[in-house]
Amino acid sequence: MGKKKDRKTLENVSESEMPAIQAILQELYLKYQPLSEGKLASYIPELAKANPDWFGICIATVDGQIYEVGNSDQLFTIQSISKVFVYGMALEEHGREALLTKVGVEPTGDPFDSIIRLDDYSKRPENPMVNAGAIATTSLIKGNNPTDRLNYLLDMFRHYTGHDMFIDMSVFVSERTTGHRNRAMAHLMRHFGMIDEKIDDALDLYFQQCSVMVNCHDLAVMAATLANRGVNPCTGKRAVAACYIRDILSVMYTCGMYNFAGEWAYKVGLPAKSGVSGGIIAIVPNQLGIAVFSPPLDSRGNSVRGIKVCEDLSRRFELHMFDSPTACEHPSDRLSPHPQHLDT
Ligand code: GLU
Repeated sequence: MGKKKDRKTLENVSESEMPAIQAILQELYLKYQPLSEGKLASYIPELAKANPDWFGICIATVDGQIYEVGNSDQLFTIQSISKVFVYGMALEEHGREALLTKVGVEPTGDPFDSIIRLDDYSKRPENPMVNAGAIATTSLIKGNNPTDRLNYLLDMFRHYTGHDMFIDMSVFVSERTTGHRNRAMAHLMRHFGMIDEKIDDALDLYFQQCSVMVNCHDLAVMAATLANRGVNPCTGKRAVAACYIRDILSVMYTCGMYNFAGEWAYKVGLPAKSGVSGGIIAIVPNQLGIAVFSPPLDSRGNSVRGIKVCEDLSRRFELHMFDSPTACEHPSDRLSPHPQHLDT
C-alpha cells in the first residue's frame, strides 16, 4: 500500500476495482467467522451480554470511501478505544509538555488495569492507553461542571464520527458500580498529586467516555480521521489539530494493544487501539483506517477475530510501517514481499 509502486494497494484502486476490496473483506469475514476461541469481557457485567457471533470489519479511506462487511452497524461501547481520542483532546487543551508532567509515554508490558507501577516508579501513570493514564488524562478535561465536560467530550467524538453521540447508560452504571480497581487507581493518583480533588467527577467522566456507543463503521471513520491528519474524510471537518497526530499515533503504536503491544508492532506494524468490548482500530497513516468488531477476547483482552483480520490485512497489503521492498535472504523468510501467500 503506497510503498511499492508496482503493487496493487488499497488506496490506489480505481472505481472498477472497488468490488475487489469488498470481496477481500467478505473473504476475511468468512474465514474468521467460524473461530470459536476467546471469552466475553465480564468484569463489567453488562459487557457479558454481548453476542459472541457479532463480527464486523470496516475500512475507511482518507478520500472517504467505505468498505464494510458483517455486523458493521451493530452498536457497542467504545471502551478503551476512547482513550486515544480523549488523549488528543487533552493535548489540544494543555499542550504536550504540560500533559507529559501528568501522564508519560512509556509502554508498561503490564495488563491495562495494573496498579503496581503507579506506586513503584514515578507516581505518574506510564502512558495514556492504560487505565491509570487514561483516568489522569480524562481528569484534565476542562469544563465548568460535569455536564459541560461530558457535552464537550461527546462533541469531540461527534467531530470524529460526523453524527451525534450517546452513552449506553446500562454499561455506564454497570462499570460505575463495579469499577473499584479504577477507583483505587484514581485515589492513589490523588494521593500523589497527579489528579485534583474531584476524583468522583473524573471517574464518572472516564466511565462515560468508555460507555460511548459506536459501531464498526464509526470506528473506521474515526481511524481514517487520524490517518487523514485529523480531518474527518467523510465530513471534511477537522476533529483534532494536525500537530498532535504524531503524539497520538506514537502512543498507539507503542502502547495501544495492552500487553500485546510489542508483538502487535512487530507483526502488524500499525498504530492501533483495542477495547474490551471487542473493537480494534488500526491506522495506515495518510491512507486509511481499519476497524474490526468481535466481542470474544484473548487472554490479553484483544478481540480474537480482530487480531486475525488485522494480521491478515497487514500481510496481504504490506501495511507494516517498516516493510521492506526487498525479499529476505533467509529461505524461511523469503515469503516476503509476497505476504498475501502467507495465509495460514
Ligand atoms: N472501561 C474499561 C475499564 O476501565 C476500559 C477497559 C478497556 O477497554 O481496556 O476497565
